[in-house]
Amino acid sequence: MSAQRVIEIHPDAPRKPAEGAACNGCGVCCSAEPCPLGMLLSRRRRGACAALAWEPDQHRYVCDALVRPQRFVPLPWRWTQRAFARWARRLVAAGHGCDSSVEVLTR
Ligand code: SF4
Ligand code: SF4
Repeated sequence: MSAQRVIEIHPDAPRKPAEGAACNGCGVCCSAEPCPLGMLLSRRRRGACAALAWEPDQHRYVCDALVRPQRFVPLPWRWTQRAFARWARRLVAAGHGCDSSVEVLTR
């Protein structure tokens, strides 16, 4: 039997798609546990990632390491933030589809 865990998700978040399908920003993976980059940014190995952000206009979650790199690179030079976001995009394999095998049970 696999372990069960309770995670909090925005009520307007889209349902998690099947593993391998296009990412829809449901936020399940990053709410369950941070990825390696998220562990670094969150300074923890469990729980929701500190970089996970709800976008009310888009009704989806985004990764602030990609969208708001200035949160993590508080330097005055924009190029450092852009370089960080590019590095983060490669690290989290953004745009490669859903890589989460988490099964979601809602109540
Ligand atoms: S993809 Fe971004 S929000 Fe998700 S766990 Fe990794 S760093 Fe955090
Ligand atoms: S990778 Fe999958 S679980 Fe994570 S936000 Fe995208 S669709 Fe949701």
